[in-house]
Amino acid sequence: MLRPDTPVQFLKGVGPQRAEAFERMGVRTVEDLLYHIPHRYLDATTVTPIASVDVGTEVTIVGRVVSKAVVPTRRRLRIFRAVLRDDTGVIECAWPGQAFLDRTIKQGQLLLVTGPVKYYHGRQVVPREQIILADAEEVDGEGGESTAGLVLPVYPATEGLAHRQVRRLVHENLDAMLATVDDTLPERLRVAAHAVSLEQALRAVHRPAAAGAWEQGRRRLALDELFDLQLVVARARHLAKSAHKGPTFVNRKELTSALRGALPFELTAEQKRAVREIAADMTSDRRMHRLLMGDVGTGKTVVALFAMLLAVENGYQAVFMAPTELLAEQHAGTLTALLAPLGIVPELLIGRLTAAQKAAARERIASGGPRVIVGTHALIQEQTAFHRMGLAVIDEQHRFGVEQRAALIEKGEAPDVLLLSATPIPRSLALTLYGDLDISVLRQKPLRQGPVKTGVRSNRDREKVYRFLRERCEAGGQAYVVYPVIDESERVDLKAATTMAQELTERLAPLTVALVHGRQRAEERDDVMRRFRDGAVQVLVATTVIEVGIDVPNATVMVIEHPERFGLAQLHQLRGRVGRGAEESHCVLLTDEASALDRLRRFARTTDGFKIAELDLRERGMGELAGTRQAGGFALRFADLERDADLIDRARKAALALIASDPTLSNREHSALRRRIERRHRRGIELFQVG
Ligand code: ADP
Ligand code: MG
Repeated sequence: MLRPDTPVQFLKGVGPQRAEAFERMGVRTVEDLLYHIPHRYLDATTVTPIASVDVGTEVTIVGRVVSKAVVPTRRRLRIFRAVLRDDTGVIECAWPGQAFLDRTIKQGQLLLVTGPVKYYHGRQVVPREQIILADAEEVDGEGGESTAGLVLPVYPATEGLAHRQVRRLVHENLDAMLATVDDTLPERLRVAAHAVSLEQALRAVHRPAAAGAWEQGRRRLALDELFDLQLVVARARHLAKSAHKGPTFVNRKELTSALRGALPFELTAEQKRAVREIAADMTSDRRMHRLLMGDVGTGKTVVALFAMLLAVENGYQAVFMAPTELLAEQHAGTLTALLAPLGIVPELLIGRLTAAQKAAARERIASGGPRVIVGTHALIQEQTAFHRMGLAVIDEQHRFGVEQRAALIEKGEAPDVLLLSATPIPRSLALTLYGDLDISVLRQKPLRQGPVKTGVRSNRDREKVYRFLRERCEAGGQAYVVYPVIDESERVDLKAATTMAQELTERLAPLTVALVHGRQRAEERDDVMRRFRDGAVQVLVATTVIEVGIDVPNATVMVIEHPERFGLAQLHQLRGRVGRGAEESHCVLLTDEASALDRLRRFARTTDGFKIAELDLRERGMGELAGTRQAGGFALRFADLERDADLIDRARKAALALIASDPTLSNREHSALRRRIERRHRRGIELFQVG
């Protein structure tokens, strides 16, 4: 009997070697394999019987290789030719200049080819793409060579495990694997959403009965994701709001007025409004749970500082948590300067302090001495206790998991909570992701910062771009070169970034070039960033880990390699690293990808983060929005916020009802929820712990 956590190695036809190949794709267990979903399908509606192939059209055909040969031509171009046969006839296919195919394509194989049909001594297909569907000895699972009703899932594959092998293995084991499925979605929600059972859904995506049948499956899997997301959101809100009433602060206007007087600038109208909204929350007995959203440079920190002082003048501690040491240090620096006239000294608690320093800081914090505390994850470690935390501010909130946010909040006395985010997203999306959080928005940038000019250039201009970069650096500026590493575990990508850093070191000498990437230890990364901030490094080659909110006003050039690989919102986040000083800044997108030019040029013309978020949302669906891909700490693979809009609302209501109901988790729905959470936990997705 299979179980969901049975290693794939024990499946029919797998064995240790293929199990290892599966492992490389993150597939370890039966359950993982069930969720190893085809990335596309080939179906009969797209396959033409060979007898009906017409010259001058584009076709997809499926047939067995009955003969093959490599043919030389007069122009020394060698052509690979193969004759394919299906139930209706035979046809020749020709691959000019691809003699090497002779090694992979074998007689007897079932082949799918797509391409135009030419006339050359008869009909001839010139394939643009070919896929080996089955080897000679393999009888194809989905109905042999007859293309009638043919629906072929095409799976993500890897070295040593071709997609057709994945297909055959999934196919042979599917029924046994489906028997392990435990559907933990509340039945009421499933029925209301007109969704199929989990077993049906997985069957539909792996073995669709007809073209399009997989959509039903995708929709159900999307519902699961959205429900999980809404569970997390509902639970976070439940914790934040209903556990206790929040502290009721009194707007004494002591410290806050003093700050207003001491600020070297006037708050913008938007900042004033945000401060008012926050003060209204904090002075009510309702618990504040507010998101302050605004592009980089819109002045969120000062707004947060007003909130912190309101807590402090009521005798509470205010705590500010940032995702990295560098950001925490930066904030501590800013706050120290702004608070100096008020005689308040912030306490900094970060991992980099020595053990003795940390212990001393913790002691001061616990005794209630410091009123304003800035730090990193060190704040939520067990040894940290607060005297009386009345306000928790969480910077770059999406960088923290739900549990981490909760851990900070639980260290306070039902504190008010203010979340900061530099990822502007449309309100409707924010509601989906964060439940019914209250939201304040900052759109304008108060500082007269230099503009960022964005340009799209091709690789032909690379020399010129480097010359420009060098000039700016020699004139005292600094530059980022961003190299996209989609998956930091992909050694190939990382190698490309490393190679680029080495190359630039030589080309740009004597400028100092350094590399940061996500596989470095946090201390190492912080160290490089610090050297860049302090000007010891002029050119920083970075994968996408450049910290949001890192402030190096001296950096005025950013070159982005392969910008087509990024979502627009993500590009915008990156671009926000320059243009922080008074100088004009430049962002250069280097690409030869013609199909991406339109959207990149549109991006180049737009500077408003909200507009870009909307463009991005329309273009690629929500999954790609920076910072939201990991919504609530897990990725949305199946859900599409626009297409599945109807599911979101249902999922949200179901989640709210479930979270708000009997907390002992006794009845059937709650035990399903518990199994769901455990199941997700096994797959590395943390919803939350059940008590
Ligand atoms: P964010 O965190 O939103 O990216 P910051 O809070 O770091 O932005 O603010 C960016 C810069 O703008 C800081 O140097 C800050 O001192 C300055 N700033 C904030 N508000 C104003 C204002 N109303 N007028 C002028 N400068 C401001
Ligand atoms: Mg900030």
